[in-house]
Amino acid sequence: MIKISNYINGKLIGPKKGKYLESYNPAKGQVYAKVPDSDAVDVDRAYKAAARAFPSWSKTSANERAQILTNIADHILADLEKLAKAESIDNGKPVALAKKVDIPRSAANFRFFAQAITQFASQAHEMTDGINYTLRQPLGVVGTISPWNLPLYLFTWKIAPALAAGNCVVAKPSEVTPMTAFLLSRICIKAGLPKGVLNIVHGDGLKVGAQMTKHPGIKAISFTGSTRVGKEIAKVAAPMFKKISLEMGGKNPNIIFADCNYDKMLNTTVRSSFSNQGQICLCGSRLLIERSIYDKFKRDFVKRVKSLKVGPPERRNTDIGAVVSQAHYEKVLSYIKLAKKEGGRIRAGGKAVFPRGYKGGWYIEPTIIEGLDPYCRTNQEEIFGPVVTLIPFDTEEEALEYANATDYGLSCSVWTENISRANRIAKHIDAGIVWINTWMLRDLRTPFGGVKNSGVGREGGFEALRFFTEAKNVCIQF
Ligand code: NAD
Repeated sequence: MIKISNYINGKLIGPKKGKYLESYNPAKGQVYAKVPDSDAVDVDRAYKAAARAFPSWSKTSANERAQILTNIADHILADLEKLAKAESIDNGKPVALAKKVDIPRSAANFRFFAQAITQFASQAHEMTDGINYTLRQPLGVVGTISPWNLPLYLFTWKIAPALAAGNCVVAKPSEVTPMTAFLLSRICIKAGLPKGVLNIVHGDGLKVGAQMTKHPGIKAISFTGSTRVGKEIAKVAAPMFKKISLEMGGKNPNIIFADCNYDKMLNTTVRSSFSNQGQICLCGSRLLIERSIYDKFKRDFVKRVKSLKVGPPERRNTDIGAVVSQAHYEKVLSYIKLAKKEGGRIRAGGKAVFPRGYKGGWYIEPTIIEGLDPYCRTNQEEIFGPVVTLIPFDTEEEALEYANATDYGLSCSVWTENISRANRIAKHIDAGIVWINTWMLRDLRTPFGGVKNSGVGREGGFEALRFFTEAKNVCIQF
């Protein structure tokens, strides 16, 4: 049994009260590690270590910080195999996916923000009789809270800009997938990150995340997770006037017009529906299809999806691994049941599967449902699993109406060769991220985030560096 430690003041230590939670391997449904069940005392210890480290870390040059972040990126890549395997055991995702996406991107996050901070500049505003210049100063001790679906990828997406900007960090990974954050703490020690600059506190959302949110010394919270928890954080942080960045749930539409590049669309739609078992906030879960190609698309899509292999994450030919936890498995299956109750017809999947030798694991077939009203619960609520619905439409206006008909607004994919239509939709869609004839094509310089119940604020590029700094105007009269 692996015993995970907190990383506080440069040391790997247990929680003060000595309590631990169980961590499961979803491929087998078995406990394989113990995670600190930290609480307010551990959060405060982490805060104090960060506050002590802040004066000297914030005085380092951008180049010095960039060098350390680059060292961390190098160590992550050197440990690629080990980290990918660990991520897969912890989360249930195929090892091949973790190797290709999660771990390289975690290294890229550090490398990107190491470079970005050396290019980050502030403004000057000239007057006839004076000049203003803006200082961009680190906030102090900041908190980051992240989810289980892309564990190291999203954990580092927050930590890297916070550190690059000169802040010290108290970071909380998901208690469901703590392993790679623990391995990262060892990497930080090896890479020469000074003690207390980054502190990782493991544990439950209420005992750790909520304590970080209400801690008076933690100046900002950067959160990625569900809309429900985002709302809780906003409620606590608002009267304390904390800066918050909230990246939350989605119910993303893929709008498919008859004039699209059909083969490219079909290949990408299989990926955008079921990568990571559909557990990516950017997955398209409502497929809106122009009626003239609806039957053809359904036939081809169902055939392709039925050929996807659901199986153990470590097996080379596995396309779909296990979903992350028993609670999540039950939630996803309950939505399939709800869809049937709402009149949905299952065209592929719809059931749990039990690969030989992995009977206790949490596997769900990739599922396609049609015949549902665009306004029913299945089409309105986030399922966050391997489940998509098919919805036909007749006109561009109707497609846009359905696409915008949820409380969410994270991302959207539009498939058409008509450039004017693509631009019209991009302008009128309620989403923070629009892909035209693609999906998940990412440039880390771009603003990342959602509208409506999907998000507040933007991550990515200089947006993230602006979030993690405070602007101070200095005015000089000539
Ligand atoms: P979650 O909201 O349950 O948990 C996220 C994190 O918040 C965890 O670390 C958890 O321990 C912590 N937490 C729980 N309660 C808390 C509280 N009261 N105060 C502070 N922290 C608390 O989300 P999840 O189930 O881990 O992740 C899935 C969700 O994340 C989905 O809704 C998905 O759409 C969303 N997500 C969004 C993005 C994005 O960029 N918009 C990216 C990935 C995932």
